[in-house]
Amino acid sequence: MTDTHCPYCALQCAMTLTATPGERLPVEVAGRDFPTNRGGLCKKGWTSAELLGRADRITSPLVKQADGTFVEAGWAEVLDRIAAAVTRLKAESGPDAIGVFGGGGLTNEKAYQLGKFARIALGTRLIDYNGRFCMSSAAAAANRAFGLDRGLPFPLSDLDTADAVLVLGSNIGDTMPPFVQHLQGARGRGGLIVVDPRRSTTARLTEDGAGMHVQPVPGTDLALLLGIAHVVVAEELYDRDYLDERTVGFEAVRRSVSSWWPARAESVTGVPAETIRAVAHRLAGSSSAYILTGRGVEQHVDGTDTATAAINLALLLGLVGRPGSGYGTLTGQGNGQGGREHGQKSDQLPGYRKIIDPAARAHVARVWGVDPAIIPGPGLPAVQLLERCGAADGVRMLLVHGANVVVSAPDVSQVRAALGRLDLLVVSDFFLSETAQLADIVLPVLQWAEEDGTMTNLEGRVIRRRRAVDPPPGARSELWIMRELAERLGAPGTWSLDPSEVFDELARASAGGIADYSGLSHALLDTGVEAHWPYPAGSTGTPRLFRERFGHDDGRARLVAVRARQPETPRGAELSLITGRLLAHYQSGTQTRRVAELNDLHPRIVAQLHPLTARDRGVAEGSRIRLSNSRGALEADVELTDGIRPDTVFLPFHYSGAESANLLTSAATDPHSSMPEFKNAVVTVEAIRAG
Ligand code: SF4
Repeated sequence: MTDTHCPYCALQCAMTLTATPGERLPVEVAGRDFPTNRGGLCKKGWTSAELLGRADRITSPLVKQADGTFVEAGWAEVLDRIAAAVTRLKAESGPDAIGVFGGGGLTNEKAYQLGKFARIALGTRLIDYNGRFCMSSAAAAANRAFGLDRGLPFPLSDLDTADAVLVLGSNIGDTMPPFVQHLQGARGRGGLIVVDPRRSTTARLTEDGAGMHVQPVPGTDLALLLGIAHVVVAEELYDRDYLDERTVGFEAVRRSVSSWWPARAESVTGVPAETIRAVAHRLAGSSSAYILTGRGVEQHVDGTDTATAAINLALLLGLVGRPGSGYGTLTGQGNGQGGREHGQKSDQLPGYRKIIDPAARAHVARVWGVDPAIIPGPGLPAVQLLERCGAADGVRMLLVHGANVVVSAPDVSQVRAALGRLDLLVVSDFFLSETAQLADIVLPVLQWAEEDGTMTNLEGRVIRRRRAVDPPPGARSELWIMRELAERLGAPGTWSLDPSEVFDELARASAGGIADYSGLSHALLDTGVEAHWPYPAGSTGTPRLFRERFGHDDGRARLVAVRARQPETPRGAELSLITGRLLAHYQSGTQTRRVAELNDLHPRIVAQLHPLTARDRGVAEGSRIRLSNSRGALEADVELTDGIRPDTVFLPFHYSGAESANLLTSAATDPHSSMPEFKNAVVTVEAIRAG
């Protein structure tokens, strides 16, 4: 029996895997008591071990032939070929001809090693990861307001006793079902408030007196928050002492919300003024209140400002750092938190340090055993990195680890075309994902239960992932792949294959940084300590941040005045498209679409429409419709629900090819975070087949 955690989302539910002695498979899964899941698992977790025995697992390197088929090849042959290509392309076009695209599902050790590999083995500045599509706006807002970004700056169990919880743009009822038990206290007191244009599973938790469901026009969350803040300021519901003692910027925010009286906010958001007032009064009148944001309000071109408006509201009410209250953002990917702390981001070094900071560069260079001058400067965020692929003087070779960008990136037609223009695409994965299918070389890697490592969950809690079964012969860890390539390239530094040694190096590199892991080790984590970072050497970690001070030098939080923009809005017969997740699938679906029990629940893309909208277009339940805009088109069957706004259509984003919702989404990005606009696209909807 091996204690570990689920391979999927950021809740990182604890589970025990039991393998038959002497046999690799099957593996049984059992939920395990842990503060986030308390023994519970969702369907995805229960069925996760099925992936270990899939017949379509890649167990040998694959090389694409001229006719587009793959043939198996030896490891030495493909690694020699990749190393030779790196050397040739660097000589011809410079180091930035090589790009690296990482993932928020990689362990901390791999995320750390990938950043180091890109910068001192490949010598490129061009590394970023799919967490740019996930957490970047909330991270930018938290860094701006608090001087520090940790998804939840408090343990999840703190929510249990909350009087009110405002959830903006997150469907945890489907994405993280065991999370819901932490909302029961607020539900019991009628204090769960869910903001979503759709009556999602989470929004339904507010029914029967458990709270309120607020349904704004897509893309207007910022105006909604400004309206709520207006009520708090106008009615002097704010915490004056807290603002004086712990924050700066109140006057600017007071002025910025002064014109957002509820009637004006109603005219923009479609949310009745009375509801806006009721939300403000419920939060201000609660002895214990939390504000939580998710991708629904963050994945916009003004996502950073929207998250900032949520933080402003929390600061006005004196919630942040107060016992029993707070603000947090709900990380999505399994290691979305750790993935952004160890150097995968284009502008950061391990320890969540800025790559432009000379002291940070000197510290990390010492740990890596290199001259700081050889560490390249900032690269490009994910969308721009993908746009550079195949461009004149752009990226000629891309290495992808733990990401399926031709499903998960916005405007995927352009991404697919860009990848097709590369000289060489190398993808490391354990299945032939849609991105791997486009690759010139595919490298088979290990799954979560086949190797050791650590993850950092949505609470900033560092946890141990453990090897429970032997990997299939032929598959290799990314740590091994990076070491082999680093040696072939004559890279400086050491390249351990032992995850605990890589963690120790990561911990040294993080020492003194914002995300300080220097007091942690695999051995300490194996004792079961509660390990929330920052965890400097000699400390016992930090479950709750901001109790005494914020991360800025003066210890105070920043209220930042933000302005609402005019979102792209549908005209005439057009609709606003929003995208999201389903209970049975995880992210790009590469894994969950391969689990029969999950795929049978949601085997293909289905569009949710309001019955009035459907009637206007002559479609009914089960009809086939075509959704299109200037970026692309797709077909979907119709599911009717009166829980969605009539001006809105919902698509899940787990599907690929002609069913990819991201054929329609925009690659426009937030100026602060480079987060793409996933959550609001204007589309035309036409009937193809009556139901
Ligand atoms: Fe896994 Fe997330 Fe489901 Fe928990 S909620 S079992 S971590 S997918």
